[in-house]
Amino acid sequence: MSAPPPILQDLIGQEHASRFLASAVSHGEPSHAYLFHGPKGVGKYDAALKFAAALCCETGGCGECPSCEKAARGVHPDIDAIAPVGAFITIDQVREINRNLNLRPHESRARVFILRGADRFNTDSANAFLKSLEEPPPFVYFLLIADRLDKLIPTIVSRCQPVRFGPVPAADIEAHILGNYEISPVVAQAYARASRGNLHLAEALAANNKLSDRRERYLHIAENLAKGAWEGGASQMASEIIAAAAEQGDTAEQEEEENVPEGFLVAPKKKREQDAHRRASQAQKRELDLALDFLETWFRDMMAMASGAGEAILNRDYELELEAQSHESRIDNYCQALEVIEAARSKLSYNVDLELALQAMFYKLQEVL
Ligand SMILES: [Zn+2]
Repeated sequence: MSAPPPILQDLIGQEHASRFLASAVSHGEPSHAYLFHGPKGVGKYDAALKFAAALCCETGGCGECPSCEKAARGVHPDIDAIAPVGAFITIDQVREINRNLNLRPHESRARVFILRGADRFNTDSANAFLKSLEEPPPFVYFLLIADRLDKLIPTIVSRCQPVRFGPVPAADIEAHILGNYEISPVVAQAYARASRGNLHLAEALAANNKLSDRRERYLHIAENLAKGAWEGGASQMASEIIAAAAEQGDTAEQEEEENVPEGFLVAPKKKREQDAHRRASQAQKRELDLALDFLETWFRDMMAMASGAGEAILNRDYELELEAQSHESRIDNYCQALEVIEAARSKLSYNVDLELALQAMFYKLQEVL
């Protein structure tokens, strides 16, 4: 087999997908629609951009020609990326695609439409999109991206070639962030393990002091809970996390307002403002989820330590604290703490009063620990 195109060689920790895509471009006839599916943060969009570049490049993805270079900068005129507006990919967005579908490529051999959030079509937009998906012009390729295969409309799935992306192995994440960010080996290992296959989260932890500070704060709360040092009680812990989440929400809203994308598929201003609000509340929920993730890693680690599996801990950079504080006799308590956090997580996914739900969680955690 010939060597894979250079542009597809560095998909981090995605051997299966990268081999599959490489053979699709090097062996002639790529299919006209692919569905990149797998968990959040594992590099699906990055892979789609690179695959799109390979489809446009005269030599199948050299990584060096003007076409590849434009693709890498996100300014290739034959590559369009579409993302849901608010909750859905809308009928207007699909109509816009359909109107542009038959235009010849501007300067390369293909036109590629990347659709993020392909699990978020509504009935109207899905029906309109199916028509273009059925018989696209020979130079058009669709790359659909979705976190959840089970949320996709079956008739869309059946018209695409699926490409599976898995969680990125911790060792690959560790090597990548150690090589690209100013962090120590033990911290790289901690971030790689704590992000549990989510490469983007590990990168964000390595690149962003504010995020790594928040991780420390959340771990500190868990540590104090496990020690029985309550520092202000359940309501104070809850409001600390709520404040951090609200701040993330505000930041997301601001960014949305400042970051008006360019291109023909941009939503009108009013729609974007509604969207900014929605994103703020999404960002807030994401932060809460993240806080719970980090709390959880602490109690998992306490369990691992207490049961003599210290080499398996996620928070390598807290090894000493974990070792000093975990006790074999309390394994059941750590396990109950994990159950309490899981129960709170499913509650938070409904529209409950977030702060009250968190407070209730912390009261229960105090009880079981
Ligand atoms: Zn090229």
